[in-house]
Amino acid sequence: MRQIVPTGDERVLAACIYCGAAPDTRDHVPSRVLLDEPFPENLPVVPSCRACNTSFSLDEEYLAVLIDCVIVGATTPTSRHRAKVRRILKRQPALAAAIHAGCTSEPTMGTTVFAADLDRVKKVVLKLAKGHAAFELHTVEDEEPSAVSIVPLQLLDENSREAFETPPHSYLFPEMGSRAMMRMFEHGVPSPSWIVVQSGRYRFLASPGRPLLVRMVIGEYLACEVAWDV
Ligand SMILES: [Zn+2]
Repeated sequence: MRQIVPTGDERVLAACIYCGAAPDTRDHVPSRVLLDEPFPENLPVVPSCRACNTSFSLDEEYLAVLIDCVIVGATTPTSRHRAKVRRILKRQPALAAAIHAGCTSEPTMGTTVFAADLDRVKKVVLKLAKGHAAFELHTVEDEEPSAVSIVPLQLLDENSREAFETPPHSYLFPEMGSRAMMRMFEHGVPSPSWIVVQSGRYRFLASPGRPLLVRMVIGEYLACEVAWDV
């Protein structure tokens, strides 16, 4: 990714953006488990404490494996899985078993249905959205979001898909000096646009103002939107 060095108020990013504790580590947003190697250069990082960073890592790994297993339709490692997920499935039979335990086959549809641990999925999606808001918009959101939606892209009807893909028109300028503000100056368009972190793996857009919106697409499969109204 192209690197944009913000000139805004660095105090916004002086503590763990998830809990406000002293930031011992830097957290990649998105986590590298959601991307393939070689990783893009200049991946976004935000300040995080070790406890938050470690706790999110396991859930991010779970989500990465779950999405790939759903796409492939299997929880035993195959050549169709991403190399990274294949390694995790081999290394962590308990995780593979847990995801497999949630599978039921639907003979009439000829498919396998996966039950997701929605609390874990939501925790990761919220964490990613907070990371993008902090990195792109210089905004640390510590309140609960007003809405979180998580749905496979393919389940969106045509109108919903169009609405999801179209960047919202932003009437409020992003924070002075934030990356979003600098991108706006570069492109001369007063609306946020999709940022592709790695093609086919991860893209997002972050829209400032109220509602503050972050949309993400993981593996070109899972469409997520997090909104903060107040
Ligand atoms: Zn923390």
